[in-house]
Order: sequence, then C-alpha cells, then structure tokens
Amino acid sequence: MKLYCPEEECGIFGIFGHPEAANLTYLGLYALQHRGQESCGIVSSDGASLHAHKGMGLVADVFGNQEIFKQLPGEGAIGHVRYSTTGSSVIKNVQPIMVDYSRGSIAVAHNGNIVNAQIIKDELEAWGSIFQTTMDTEIIVHLLATSKTSSLLERIADALQRIRGAYCLLFQTETRMIAVRDPHGYRPLCLGKLGNAYVVASESCALDLIEAEFIREIEPGEIVEITKNGMTSHFPFKKVAPAPCIFEFVYFARPDSTIFGKNVYLVRKELGRQLAREFRIEADMVIPVPDSGVPAAMGYAEESGIPFELGLIRNHYVGRTFIEPQQAIRHFGVKIKLNPVRELIKGKRVIVIDDSIVRGTTSRKIVKMVRNAGASEVHVLISSPPTSYPCYYGIDTPNRKELISSSHTVDEIRRYITADSLGYLTPEGLTQAVGTENTSYCRACFTGDYPIKFPQLRPEPQLGLFEKES
Ligand code: AMP
Repeated sequence: MKLYCPEEECGIFGIFGHPEAANLTYLGLYALQHRGQESCGIVSSDGASLHAHKGMGLVADVFGNQEIFKQLPGEGAIGHVRYSTTGSSVIKNVQPIMVDYSRGSIAVAHNGNIVNAQIIKDELEAWGSIFQTTMDTEIIVHLLATSKTSSLLERIADALQRIRGAYCLLFQTETRMIAVRDPHGYRPLCLGKLGNAYVVASESCALDLIEAEFIREIEPGEIVEITKNGMTSHFPFKKVAPAPCIFEFVYFARPDSTIFGKNVYLVRKELGRQLAREFRIEADMVIPVPDSGVPAAMGYAEESGIPFELGLIRNHYVGRTFIEPQQAIRHFGVKIKLNPVRELIKGKRVIVIDDSIVRGTTSRKIVKMVRNAGASEVHVLISSPPTSYPCYYGIDTPNRKELISSSHTVDEIRRYITADSLGYLTPEGLTQAVGTENTSYCRACFTGDYPIKFPQLRPEPQLGLFEKES
C-alpha cells in the first residue's frame, strides 16, 4: 500500500514585497506549468494573515477569474503547481499546505520527494500527530511545529535536519518568505528581483515572464529568508556533495531556463551533437518528437549535415502525454498530440529523435505513425542513456518493472518499438555534453547509483544551526 505520495514534478514560485504579489505568482506558475498540471494553488500574506486559493487543474483554469485575486491580498505570495501519482489526485493534497500553529500561520510549497517520509510519519503518529493529507510535505509542517527551537529559521532548519531526500521549499508566514534548497541541490531554485521585491522560482523562465532580474541560483543547503528588511542567507546543514538532477537537462526543465549554471536549450542541443558523433546513420532527414526532442534533433542535424524537418506536428492544446495519471489516457494521448506530415516523410529514410524512452509506449506509437506515413526506414535515437532505474528524488518515473530498459536489451527495445535501428546516448556522451566542470550530477535514473540510499533510516549528524553566511 502506498501511504505517502511524493511531491514529484512540481514547480514553486514566490514573491515578497510587491503590491501585486498574488497576480505575479499566478504568472510565475503559468511559466512553470510544465512542471505539474494536476493542481495548483497560491497563498498570499497581507502582513496580518494568510489567504489561499487552490484547485485541481491548470493554472489558467484555477485562477481564470480576476475576482479570485481580490481574495489574495498582500505583498507576499507563494504558489505551487503539482503533478502526483494516481490515488493522491484529491483537493486536500493541493499545495501550498497552510496551517495555524502555536506561533501563527504558515504555508509551505514543496518540489521534490522525501525518502524517509514514512519512517518520520510513523514516529510522529506514535506521538499523537494527526495528518490531514497524504503528502510527504505535511511531515515538515509537523516537525517544525513541534521543534523545541525558538525562531522560525531554527525551527525550519531543525525540522529539515530530520528529512532526507530532495526538496526545494517555499514558506510563507504573515511577515516573511523563506526559501530552502536541500543540501544535495537535486532540484533547481533561483532567486530574482523585481524592483525592491524578491522573487524565488523553480526555473528562471518564471522570472523572465514577470521581467524580474535573475540574481543567482539558491545554493544547495541554503536557506534564504526575506522580510521587509531585506534578504539574509544561511547554511545550517552539513555540507554534502551536490547532486543536481541531470534529467532536468534531459527532459524536465524548460529549454529557455538556466538551471545549475547552464541554459537548458544549449545543453539539449549539445546532447544532439554528441548523439551525431556517436551514431552516423545514412538518412534523408532528422525529425524531432516535439517538443522534448527538438533541440537535440537540431544539434544532431547540425553536426551530421542531415536536414532537420518538422515531420511530426504537435497539437499544442494537449498537455504532456506522460503527465496524464491514467494509462488509458496516456496511450490515447500520443495520437491526439502528434500527427505526421505524410507528403514530407513518404519514401524517406527518417531519423526520429526523442529525449528518453520510459515505458516504450510513445516511441512504439511514433515509429508506427512515421512508418504508416510512408517512411522507408525509421531510425530512433535517444538523447540520453537508457532510463533503467526509478527516481526517488522528484521525477515521476515508474517503478523498475515498468521501465522498459530495466529488463530489456537495446535490441529487444528496438524490436518492441519496431524501429530499423535504435541508439541511446552513452553515459560518457551525456557527461561530456552537459559539461565536465560539474561532475557530481545525480544520474541515478541511468546508473542506479543513488546519492541518498533509499530509505535512509537514521539522520546523519549535522553542523550547528545558523552559521551565518552573509
Ligand atoms: P514512454 O511512452 O513511457 O516511453 O514515455 C516517453 C516519453 O515521455 C518521452 O517522449 C519523454 O519525452 C517523456 N518523458 C520522459 N520522462 C518523463 C517524465 N518523468 N515525466 C513526463 N514525461 C516524461
């Protein structure tokens, strides 16, 4: 039985010190919609109390009515877009979570996944805690409410000392906003400024939309506190080797974002170039699986000299196929999302490029589609190595059994997807394309080498709280 639902594939956004905080948060969430499409919410603060609006569905649907923003007054706001696995698709699990406790009100938005959630929950329940949601994020709220330390910063740090896993967090109280990135820095989080207001977002594309200036990324293990007096930065956790998620580059982040110090589009294009160096194929055209395969296919075409064509046209009003919670919808989704340009493809040798194969469903349907459109040969190239291991740190990959490459060879997968040839980027090629200056990315989905063992039972000893950085 799955008791805890990881807060996977989420996006968070917050702004402090702006009269239109909730409105700007809405725009920020709009830019982060690709990180989660199931539900969303905003909590604002007017200095005296918190106000919330949340709902199931897309940002534009949940916040489609201007009247809603009258219910979200104040100069501080945090927001969240969420995708989670089946079973937890209920309104009570929509974030931000908002609670009242002995010190006032607090709201929290979380992107990531806590790997020791069940253990902590069992302990808390044994001490009498009552949980209202099935989200691992609620554990953090319980831990900080029961912390014996005094200031909010200390309570947050104290609570997080117990937590293992991936988390980018945004807290909103009546008077402050606090942003945290876990010590491994699995998920991206950046800091910006809009006039005198501070902005925090999962990806820089959200800053661009509201015309905020990108200041820097929030560091792994950093806690940033923003009040009306400005911003302070703290590093209360024991330093560990950073492990930013390489799959953010491969698939998850938006190409116009800068994460982990690099622009995602340029990295993806380089993945395609590297693919061309590794796989020379005689073909008439390179076509991407839109949108995720576009930059890699462009890189491949540039490097190989084979013309790039948009051989598959995407219906832009359909969401990311994989992000539909039900298998039946996902199967149907590929067809409603993509259609081949028959006149272009007919009689041609085609290379189709996508970023990854998870279950193999998408590639199989696409190869069939391209072949039915008259292609004489269909070669598939994937701009990452085989995804053989599940992610426990916030990317929604299925369990091992469902990951086709965990139990099948490349040739077996080629036969399953009915391609003439299939090639995956090598792990070395991936490293080279992403850049070797930061060699400590988390690549557990490709290698099975997990930076935090799952589940880690005992918290490691930590440094003293609040050694102030600046
Ligand atoms: P599948 O049909 O299960 O093989 O899914 C492969 C497709 O899903 C590819 O086109 C990827 O772009 C996309 N994809 C890969 N990983 C994820 C993920 N974690 N969340 C959503 N979509 C994904």
